[in-house]
Amino acid sequence: MSDIVISTTNLTKSYNGVRVVDNVTLTVNSGAIVGLVGKNGAGKTTLLRLLTGLVKPDSGSFELMSGVARNSTDVAAIVESPSLYNNLSAVENLQIQCKLLGIKEDFNYLNQTLGLVGLNSQNRRKVKNYSLGMRQRLAIAMALVGKPKLLLLDEPTNGLDPDGIRQMREILTTLNREQGVTVLVSSHILSELSKLATEYYIMEKGKVLKHVTAEELEENQGNSYRISVNNAEAAEAVLAKLGRVVRVGSAQIELFADASVTQILLLLAEADVIVSGITRSGDALEDFYVKTLRETESQNKGGAQ
Ligand code: ATP
Repeated sequence: MSDIVISTTNLTKSYNGVRVVDNVTLTVNSGAIVGLVGKNGAGKTTLLRLLTGLVKPDSGSFELMSGVARNSTDVAAIVESPSLYNNLSAVENLQIQCKLLGIKEDFNYLNQTLGLVGLNSQNRRKVKNYSLGMRQRLAIAMALVGKPKLLLLDEPTNGLDPDGIRQMREILTTLNREQGVTVLVSSHILSELSKLATEYYIMEKGKVLKHVTAEELEENQGNSYRISVNNAEAAEAVLAKLGRVVRVGSAQIELFADASVTQILLLLAEADVIVSGITRSGDALEDFYVKTLRETESQNKGGAQ
């Protein structure tokens, strides 16, 4: 059984009488990359701030790296905007971080770490001249100085361009696979998170609504197709043989079925329906997320009646 590296019990924090983290009980196992998913204001940052000790809970408790002999550098976080020394180079920033953490500078490790995040230790350029992407990568390197076993990251891809986002994903995956670093990362870019995380907690209005693993999402994902046609009514009638059909508009339908594109096109051709487009739709995480929010909304409505 893997070690539990984060465990929270009924963690609660209110601001101005509103619970922004509401009875959150969750666990994160060693080796996982856990995505904290939720809209703006769902409480993700506050939860991470609680875990890093930046704010104190009103009630509830949490433990980090319990059951594992813990060093002070085992947990690293980037929750606030990273504090970098703008007038210094990347490697000088890391050297200061070593001093702050009270650890011996290991030049090989510092060079390796900069290499891992795609920065060059020979580059003496001052950090104030760095792009946002380079700053984010340096922030990760700063967090890695103490060789943490657990990384807490709040929206690490915020403001990055698509290439920067891809690089960040590669960095986190490499750290996880090669060094066994456990990652708890918040994001509201589901498509991005789904390429990275091994499991997810879905948050809304301070509450954790659901936990799901990437495997569970994969298993439960049905096939779904978005089909543009000249006659949605005829298409709906004929494709109902294959599965569930939902009319999206006068010229578009969504089909949920374990069917191949060829099967679909053949049936439509037989019914004289002209197809102008067919795309495989459906992102498992997004579908699950939307479904979870809808279920909660209708439960809340039901409860309010
Ligand atoms: P985002 O994706 O926008 O960062 P989030 O899920 O991280 O959102 P939080 O930043 O945790 O959400 O905010 C949750 C709620 O708590 C918001 O309504 C926010 O305005 C409120 N909040 C957060 N910090 C404070 C604070 N220090 N004082 C008052 N309200 C706060």
